[in-house]
Amino acid sequence: MNTSINWKSATGETVGHLARLIQAATVNPPGNELPAILAMKEILECEGFGPEDFKIVESAPNRVNLIARLRGDGSQRPLLLSGHVDVVPVEREHWTHDPFGGEVIDGEIWGRGALDMKGFLAMYLQIFLQARRQGLPLKRDLILAAIADEEDGFTHGSRFLVDQHRELIDSEYGITEGGAFTMYLGRTRAYMIQVAEKGVCWLRMTARGKPGHGSLPHDENAVFYLAQAIERIRRAGHLPVHITPTFKSMLGAASGQIHSPLGKLAGLLGNQAVVNLLLRATKGRNKSMLMALTTNTCSPTILQAGAKTNVIPSQAEVHLDCRKLPGQSLEDVMREILAITGDRVTLEPLHTSPGAEFSTETPFYRLLERETRKLDSEGLVIPLLMPGATDASEYQRAGIKMYGFTPGLLPPEFPVISLGHGHDERLPLSFIESGLPVLWNVVNEFCAG
Ligand SMILES: [Zn+2]
Repeated sequence: MNTSINWKSATGETVGHLARLIQAATVNPPGNELPAILAMKEILECEGFGPEDFKIVESAPNRVNLIARLRGDGSQRPLLLSGHVDVVPVEREHWTHDPFGGEVIDGEIWGRGALDMKGFLAMYLQIFLQARRQGLPLKRDLILAAIADEEDGFTHGSRFLVDQHRELIDSEYGITEGGAFTMYLGRTRAYMIQVAEKGVCWLRMTARGKPGHGSLPHDENAVFYLAQAIERIRRAGHLPVHITPTFKSMLGAASGQIHSPLGKLAGLLGNQAVVNLLLRATKGRNKSMLMALTTNTCSPTILQAGAKTNVIPSQAEVHLDCRKLPGQSLEDVMREILAITGDRVTLEPLHTSPGAEFSTETPFYRLLERETRKLDSEGLVIPLLMPGATDASEYQRAGIKMYGFTPGLLPPEFPVISLGHGHDERLPLSFIESGLPVLWNVVNEFCAG
């Protein structure tokens, strides 16, 4: 470990960079990432990085990605630090302070993206800058990627890079958003490192019936058929339970560290019995999270039928936001849904993403786990299966083993989960100051030699 870095002043510098990123409003859609990428470029140029050290690649007007590289001796394959610069929209009237101000107020930096994920990207950037300043002798390249379009389908960011500029991001391992910050589970502090995520299967479910005049009702109305199918999904409660390797290691790690027999017991029971046991043990709290971690899920969202009040439509449809577990296919999900709805309805895919699952048995994961433990020796370190999707699933297609790793300490009263895409998003400066040395240790240990 290099102790010559003053983490207080490194934190100050990180906050300055983060403020610039927040002020570059990159709301997606439409996702105008250019101003944030230009801010990154300026910071790198001020530090002495030249055109041979970074590239900016554009997938559409104003949809840009910046990839910078510190060269190692090539004896090992690169490590990727990847952060998206686009953010979700804001409802300004609900914010206490300017969502694009990047102001520091009472020890916290405010603004859209402070958490998701400009704050973490600014931390990665700081480590990248420090690696150069400290002249870290790298055995593998260190790649910093500031990318577009994580919040709206990956098309202009990770997917574009994997499909069209793979040489820029090709790495053995990588980190991005998704974990290792303090979560308070009752009196327990947990640090979850994302190792897997669910895939997206957005479907259209269509019911067809007999058209007619609204004044002469009949029971072959497509709206009835669709409503019945949706009601069957509601009554079923959930799709069948599947226990993934990641869920097993989540359970094993958690119960091992709190000396609970649950982990071992779970190995002996059937899938549904494991879930019932967990529901009982947690008194039904976090039921929707538990089900999301152990089943393919299905949420009806957009409904559509008919064009005129007095015409019975021949067709009615609903969009289903379905998410599949690692190891499950689109066909598996469709089969499970049709088994519940019956075949009065048909399904077709609208959009899919593969999902991802990475091993907890890699040297890099074990390093992340070790360094996280040093951050809080009494906290639990647990691998996480994420119900949502991040860039990790796209990077997986390029063979990069990605972990969600944005380490740092959060105070108990800090509502990290609700702030992510919510109002009044902000990040405590103390988080940055506690997390930077952890990231530094990881990069130092893994890349320098
Ligand atoms: Zn994000």
